[in-house]
Amino acid sequence: MNPNEIRDEESAIDTPLNLREVGRLRVLQALFDTDSTSRSELVQITGLSRATVSSLVADLLAADLAEESEPDGQTRPTGRPAQSLTLRAPAAYAIGADIGHQHVRVALCDLNGAPIWNDAVVTDVDRAPGETLDLTADLIQRALRERNIDQERVLGLGVDIAAPVRVPSGVLEAHGIMPGWVGVQPGAELQRRTGLPTQLANDANAGALAERRYGAGRNVEDMIYIRLSAGIGAGIISGGQPLHGSGGLAGEIGHIRSAPDGRVCRCGNRGCLETVASPVAIARLLENSWGYPVAVSDLLPLIKAGDRGAVHALQDAAEEIGRVLANLVTMLNPELIVVGGDLARAGERLIEPITRAIRRYALAPAAEAVQITSGQLGDHAEVLGAAGMVLADAPRLLTAALAR
Ligand SMILES: [Zn+2]
Repeated sequence: MNPNEIRDEESAIDTPLNLREVGRLRVLQALFDTDSTSRSELVQITGLSRATVSSLVADLLAADLAEESEPDGQTRPTGRPAQSLTLRAPAAYAIGADIGHQHVRVALCDLNGAPIWNDAVVTDVDRAPGETLDLTADLIQRALRERNIDQERVLGLGVDIAAPVRVPSGVLEAHGIMPGWVGVQPGAELQRRTGLPTQLANDANAGALAERRYGAGRNVEDMIYIRLSAGIGAGIISGGQPLHGSGGLAGEIGHIRSAPDGRVCRCGNRGCLETVASPVAIARLLENSWGYPVAVSDLLPLIKAGDRGAVHALQDAAEEIGRVLANLVTMLNPELIVVGGDLARAGERLIEPITRAIRRYALAPAAEAVQITSGQLGDHAEVLGAAGMVLADAPRLLTAALAR
């Protein structure tokens, strides 16, 4: 039997409950995947009969989950104008929390993923897991209070963190990366503190999800999101699905060997890409050359001001990143590479050397097939992706909620 065709009943009353839920899930998924759609389109997309779609839509309208908009002027063959159906954005919410090395950001998002509350606090995350988790829970409570939203209407909490996350245990690989967090399970800890069902991901994976759903990678099935922040990480989407690997460690591009005689990396290996091309490495290079302290936050202003030393250091780092990305392009044949993180705002000065190195070192047809661009979501990508993890599951969660 074609899995897209489920047995369909003309009468909702005769439809067995579980089959009705399958139908409801399909309708919700179709509404979630499209900005707006008509009943006729829902019939086509779901493979359900018109009567079943009508009955399921009536349920969603009655539950205030969907809304039918005013006729848009188009007329159907019957002469009646087609109404378009959309999910009602404020019907339910998801919360994202982005835990970086030195900040916590929380966003409360509606069903469309639009943040209706978004704030960040600078804090020394790496050495203070307990305080950071308390602070995150406080920010979440503040968001709900200030927007007057009952926690019952929140589908869940998505958390992303600046360390590799083991799948499915949710244990961090924090050694050398977030020193105080070894053995901490942030997902379980935040679930306990907030009472919300919680999912955990690596920050670059969350960024990839967000840029694909809301940013530069819309409708792209094969892409790499590379995040240039304190470290360098990548989130890979292959065939429309995030690539996690067997234990969740796929995409740790910052630890690909780049300079065999280079520095020892915080991971314990030598000459990793991070040691030569991360914003921290660029700042360290300038500091050693100039003889006075240079912070990562100084880099962008120096580059924007056209400081020759800073621009050259950035371009050399970008070329090295491009060389490593060239290997990924040859291996994965992506359609798009999205560059995010602190340095993404350096624009063409960053993108051009990366692109040049990829064109030079990747297999020619794969190099020609890939576009390289800056992210569109800036430093909000990760938090929106964290909430997006929950929202990706929204059709199933809402189906389950309606069945109760
Ligand atoms: Zn390393």
